[in-house]
Amino acid sequence: MILIVEDDVRLNQALCRLFAGAGYMVTGAHSIKEALLISGAALVIIDIGLPDGDGFALCRQIRRTGSTPVIFLTARDDERDMIQAFDCGADDYLVKPFPLAVLLKHAQAVLRRARQEDLELFCYEELRIDFARKQVKCNGTKVRLTPKEYGLLELLARNKGKVITKQMMLEQLWDETGAFVEENTVNVALSRLKKKIEADPSHPVYIKNVFGLGYTLGES
Ligand code: CA
Repeated sequence: MILIVEDDVRLNQALCRLFAGAGYMVTGAHSIKEALLISGAALVIIDIGLPDGDGFALCRQIRRTGSTPVIFLTARDDERDMIQAFDCGADDYLVKPFPLAVLLKHAQAVLRRARQEDLELFCYEELRIDFARKQVKCNGTKVRLTPKEYGLLELLARNKGKVITKQMMLEQLWDETGAFVEENTVNVALSRLKKKIEADPSHPVYIKNVFGLGYTLGES
């Protein structure tokens, strides 16, 4: 759903029609107060001048709770406003008047980027993996992994809920058919990885042994 926060009633309606016509679910709000009552937006389009405050305050509020993309719409073409918009977490900025078709293209580009970023982020329980940066956090703390440990974790995470056999791990990460690398090599890397991310490696929450078959992370 796209949330339009614009106090100009006619412009708000025109924007709602624009997005509805392009096949999006859309909701209009005319103030910060109204906007804050609506949750679950995939994109928020915000006018800077609103009756109960400026759009920057709303954007900061949105940033505090998540990474929902924000596009600012404004009649102001002041450089300081543009900079402030990005400083408070905006993804894009359009100065009125603008052709509606251009706003639609900006919105689609922002949504596309947001989807790609989502695909690059893995979340399960308290485990967070940023595939793009190869960073792992567990319970909010950064976990330092060796390239092999990270590779194992990424392989399991990208195949969430599926059983990954040791043979598959060997083939993917040791670049071997498995014939010459001892299975023990995988066991050692797995047990080190578990020690780093599991609170109690003997009762794992993340990397679970599927007896006789292999390992799995999370539910499918
Ligand atoms: Ca306004």
